[in-house]
Amino acid sequence: MENTTTIAIFGHKKPDTDAIVSAIVMQDWLDQQHIKATAYRLDNPNSETQFLLNLVNISAPPSLPDLPQGQAIALVDHNESGQSIANLNDYQIQYVIDHHKLGDLTTSEPVYIRLQPVGSTCTLLFLMYQELALTPPKNLATLMCGAIISDTLNLHSPTATAQDRFALKQLSNIADIKDLDSFAKQLFEAKSSVAHLTDLELINSDFKKFSFNKDNSPLHIGISCIETVNPSQIFARKDALQQASIRLKTQSNLDYLLVIVVDILAQQSWIIASDDAQNAFMAQVFHSEMQDNLLSIGNKVSRKKQIVPALESFFAER
Ligand code: MN
Ligand code: MN
Repeated sequence: MENTTTIAIFGHKKPDTDAIVSAIVMQDWLDQQHIKATAYRLDNPNSETQFLLNLVNISAPPSLPDLPQGQAIALVDHNESGQSIANLNDYQIQYVIDHHKLGDLTTSEPVYIRLQPVGSTCTLLFLMYQELALTPPKNLATLMCGAIISDTLNLHSPTATAQDRFALKQLSNIADIKDLDSFAKQLFEAKSSVAHLTDLELINSDFKKFSFNKDNSPLHIGISCIETVNPSQIFARKDALQQASIRLKTQSNLDYLLVIVVDILAQQSWIIASDDAQNAFMAQVFHSEMQDNLLSIGNKVSRKKQIVPALESFFAER
């Protein structure tokens, strides 16, 4: 019997460039193997992603519609149910391509799962093309370069690996990008253009929720990352961001909500002040002191590799 199932591919909620681009690219990787698939998004692209899509004249994937029960799906750039659509178990997960820590995923059938601690899901997709002697087209190679640069802060993040360097080099040849640093600069400037966003939109644009275990009871922490080449522009809004984050924390029933400002060029980060209880707690976790309503957390620029693990180990020591 002919298999007419079309796999729905999508990245995480509050998508970043890697989440959107991975879905688009994975559709091509499957297409090239004559497997029917459609890329979707769970939310609107951010300004960096939109800049990149415009550059190659590709539209953002459509918003994910309601899926019928049993629909074949592929998860890219995430695997935890909290980052995904509701009721994941109602669907047939066929692929998971990701570079985050393993979460709570379970499946009823064997699945193509590829989780490796590299800097970007697009690096894994590049390796997957190579293994099948396939090549992404030029416009998708450009998007993949953008996603790798975005996720690894142009290979400066501690998440960047030899595979990311290799993939970026090969992909920039396919994409015919001569000056990667100037390409990266354009992306980061697009990412930093947030003046049009309200405080709440800014906090929400790269926001993830995590559950931790503290004294055998769950603790829910939201972490928003604002990566920018222009931190002073964000600091000028810090009081308003503080107020908005406290409101969002209450509305979302979170124990803590961290708004982290990452200076992409200096590779330095700060947590914006919240209420007194959270401020005191975070000062303990990160061994730092609040100054001028900012808690410096030094070179901790990666949520997945530095900030979440710092919280995990703090709770584990209790
Ligand atoms: Mn992502
Ligand atoms: Mn990613």
